[in-house]
Amino acid sequence: MKALLIDLDDTLLAYSAGVDDSWAQACGGAALPVEAATLVAVLAETRKWFWTGDPARHARERVNMLGAWTKIVAEALTRCGCADDALAAAIARDFAARRREAMRLFPETRAFLDALRARGLPLALVTNGDAVQQRDKIERHDLARYFDAILIEGEFGCGKPEARVYREALRRLGVGSEGAWMVGDHLEWDVLAPQRLGLTGVWIDRDGAGLPAETGARPHRIIRSLSELLG
Ligand SMILES: [Mg+2]
Repeated sequence: MKALLIDLDDTLLAYSAGVDDSWAQACGGAALPVEAATLVAVLAETRKWFWTGDPARHARERVNMLGAWTKIVAEALTRCGCADDALAAAIARDFAARRREAMRLFPETRAFLDALRARGLPLALVTNGDAVQQRDKIERHDLARYFDAILIEGEFGCGKPEARVYREALRRLGVGSEGAWMVGDHLEWDVLAPQRLGLTGVWIDRDGAGLPAETGARPHRIIRSLSELLG
């Protein structure tokens, strides 16, 4: 390994953990025109529709997460028959604050990054999403000092799986694709797309669920913890 590209959300940072609880608390803390449990259930359906129904919408909306969350709550309130944009904005803001408080690095993340730094390995953080949210996570968890390059979709103008994202990361590290590895939890963005450019693709499968039956991805390695890459 001559260089490593690393994903942020659900790779270094436990991003998805506690999402349902944060939504339930944000709804429970508001004065609602509908039963909180009803809104929470409708929100779950609406989130699924919003994020999985249309890849173009996913790409468009993920660079402004507070805006996306506000639209999701507004749609859920409309589905409950009580549209209220101000209430939607308040619930989305409360959710954002709760998420920010709840997010943690995975237990091994800091020791992993310290070990790679000690080896002098060129490191790039390559993350999709909202520039403000991603910068805030990097700052809050003191991650910038580990990386020679940080590429955020919302800053760079395009995101994974576009080839120029990985090429730009390699360019900033001053390395070619040979000997460069990428690790992340997303099979298309963090494994398949970098492999097409000649990188070694490592999939982190924290739950040990194994490759989904329908995937065409063949990671060079599958790990359950980042520590496995240090051996
Ligand atoms: Mg990820």
